[in-house]
Amino acid sequence: MKSRALFLDRDGTLVHPRRYPSRPQDLRLYDGIGPGLRTLQEAGFRLVIITNQAGIARGYFTEADLQRMHEYLAEELSQLGVRLDAVYYCPHHPQGVIPELAVRCDCRKPQPGMLLRAATELDLDLSSSWFVGDILDDIEAGNRAGCRTILVDLGTEQLPEQQIRFPHFVAQDTPHALRIIVECEFVERESLGDSHWIHPTRHVACEQLGPPPDLLYRPPTWQSVTLAEPAHPTTYPSDLKCSGVPCGRQERAAHPTTYPSDLKCSGVPCGRQAGQERNA
Ligand SMILES: [Mg+2]
Ligand SMILES: [Zn+2]
Repeated sequence: MKSRALFLDRDGTLVHPRRYPSRPQDLRLYDGIGPGLRTLQEAGFRLVIITNQAGIARGYFTEADLQRMHEYLAEELSQLGVRLDAVYYCPHHPQGVIPELAVRCDCRKPQPGMLLRAATELDLDLSSSWFVGDILDDIEAGNRAGCRTILVDLGTEQLPEQQIRFPHFVAQDTPHALRIIVECEFVERESLGDSHWIHPTRHVACEQLGPPPDLLYRPPTWQSVTLAEPAHPTTYPSDLKCSGVPCGRQERAAHPTTYPSDLKCSGVPCGRQAGQERNA
């Protein structure tokens, strides 16, 4: 059976943001992420970092430097009882100074290449996976791969103009994002009768993470916007247009431009439209 993944951007999502960090000690994990990461890992999520590292193409540091940084990061996470399953990085940038890396690639976010590669190599089910990142390029990559997406609001991102850049949820910080995932998974799994999530320890784990999270948080400048609603319809209207965002509801290759009226919802919000439209 394929695994689910929790894909995490690195800089600004897992560790404090910093311009082109190049030494291990430059990577400082956010406080408060241990319990959420442990809970999700125990529930079967593979933890995979997906990071653009244009500093390599720009000649600021080498792949060997990056390797050392990620060994350090894995060690820091293990201190929290968290096992890092994999790190995927894009070393490219079109304006790089290292000729072979100064290319337009399909792995640099917002392209979904790293997620697609991870899915193949680690046997992951993208449609039941999550991507957490602090910029809209992360969100677009996650949406393009068919994952559910959460934007961690660092105050940098304006309201997106394209549907594909809308996150399913916005979180105030990374612990909040992890809490949202636990909440969604717990409620969904429980309603599907998944005994793994009904086990009493799950309730305990959920409670240990604090009160239920705010699922409707928005950056202050986005206030008027409705994103994916926690309440999700069970069928789709027949004239619903597809935005082109694969949702994992059906195979990507067979992604239609409209949905049949009898299409059942899997219960996974797909972000295809703002909540109000979805319920129209
Ligand atoms: Mg980032
Ligand atoms: Zn790349």
